Amino acid sequence: MAILDFELPTDGLAGCLIDGAWVRPTASLPIENPSRRDVICEIGRGGAAEIDAAVAAARKAQKAWAARPASERGAMLTELGNRLAAHGETVARLLAAETGNAIKTQSRGEAAGAAGVLKYYGGVAVEQKGETLPLGPGMISYTTREPLGVVGSIIPWNSPLQLGAVKISMALAVGNCLILKPAEDAPLAILRLAELAADIFPPGVFNVVTGTGEEAGAALANHPGVDKISFTGSSEIGKLISHAAADRVAKVTLELGGKSPCIIFPDACAPDRIEATAQGVVNAMRFARQGQSCTAGSRLFVHESVWDDLMPLVSEKAAAMTVGDALDDSVDIGAVINEERYAEICRYVAEAESQGASFLTGETPRETDGGFYPIPTILKGIDNSWRIAREEVFGPVLVALPWRDEAEMIAQANNTHYGLAAFIFARDAATIARMTRAIDAGWIQVNQGGGQIPGMSYGGIKQSGVGSEYSIEGALEAYTFRKSVTIAVEP
Ligand code: ADP
Repeated sequence: MAILDFELPTDGLAGCLIDGAWVRPTASLPIENPSRRDVICEIGRGGAAEIDAAVAAARKAQKAWAARPASERGAMLTELGNRLAAHGETVARLLAAETGNAIKTQSRGEAAGAAGVLKYYGGVAVEQKGETLPLGPGMISYTTREPLGVVGSIIPWNSPLQLGAVKISMALAVGNCLILKPAEDAPLAILRLAELAADIFPPGVFNVVTGTGEEAGAALANHPGVDKISFTGSSEIGKLISHAAADRVAKVTLELGGKSPCIIFPDACAPDRIEATAQGVVNAMRFARQGQSCTAGSRLFVHESVWDDLMPLVSEKAAAMTVGDALDDSVDIGAVINEERYAEICRYVAEAESQGASFLTGETPRETDGGFYPIPTILKGIDNSWRIAREEVFGPVLVALPWRDEAEMIAQANNTHYGLAAFIFARDAATIARMTRAIDAGWIQVNQGGGQIPGMSYGGIKQSGVGSEYSIEGALEAYTFRKSVTIAVEP
């Protein structure tokens, strides 16, 4: 094996943290570096047995965990956030190695963002407050926010550390115990985080089981001892998980796909704005994460009067991004996660080309023997009904559509089964107010294409999901239930 320029987890290579101890399943799982296409290491491949053990440990620990003051639980999350921040660079390198997300533009920011999420929830955990009801003299009626019990969280590979931090924080802050199942493509940064966490939380409170979706994931989603499933990933698997949870009326939070519109008004392309708008479009598309983001603004609606000014700028900016090994500090865009995803992106682009689309930048990607390096691609001449305009490509592929009539453009933008995010670039306040009302999406950004911020409620509508994350409100709504207590003090 080549000399590693990142640090592997040590205990975490066992794969499973169960009841405070590292347990290695008999089967193992190779983890590949998508930039270099070599096997980084092997970790444990857990299944039903490990999930059973982790659920039992979590059930045993949960009542005592819930009984602790919220401030103590919060302090432990803050401690984990501080430890992660202190190890930010080494964790970021590990993340870049396993996900293919460039260290410079993505992985460093993700490590810092994940620490920020843990610290945010560490601070707001004390806001687990209830309500009182004024029933009159002699009566006291109030609600408390009670944890649901044992939570199973299943996360994908595209920003595993950030999503792991969200799932850990939301479940633990309000008194649940957790079994976290990272994605088989990118579990290493999570295992490192679990190492940092292992001596912070009491045994059984935070458990990790690595393995495949079909084995460990399905076992977790179907386990009768799991009160709630929180899933981030594809819509297809989200639906399977919903079905599994419905059979035992378990609670579910889903954060699924998107095909988010990015809408350009002429006044956002005034000479003093056009540069920032073009950069905003590139950021919204998440080109720097190979387009592997469910919030990607992947359908660009450009007012026809500014098309000729804006599109060359956007194309230039996308084409100027350097693609290469995610661990190379000069690289803007790393590698697509695996061969299957890479081939799927190639198919989408080839199909659109055969339907008559043309390239503003990029080309039909070819299968490669090197890393799974994508080409930032912008397509025009697309019909909104084509697969490339309707389905989530999960690659750096932006479809650009000109618009003239606002009502027609809104109808097209909303004509999707998704409703996760939207981006609007406009200067006029009335336009902004009208558009933020008209567009169906869980999160609308105006004049920027940034990432999630701790404290915001982030979640999708339509088939993009159920529930919201990143905020204390989201945690209270989705990870607790209201217990009502009515006391006749003087019966
Ligand atoms: P992607 O298409 O982005 O890989 P998936 O939805 O397939 O996303 O995977 C997201 C997470 O869901 C991963 O942790 C994966 O192991 C898990 N997963 C996949 N299939 C199942 C399943 N049948 N049951 C439970 N979890 C699954």
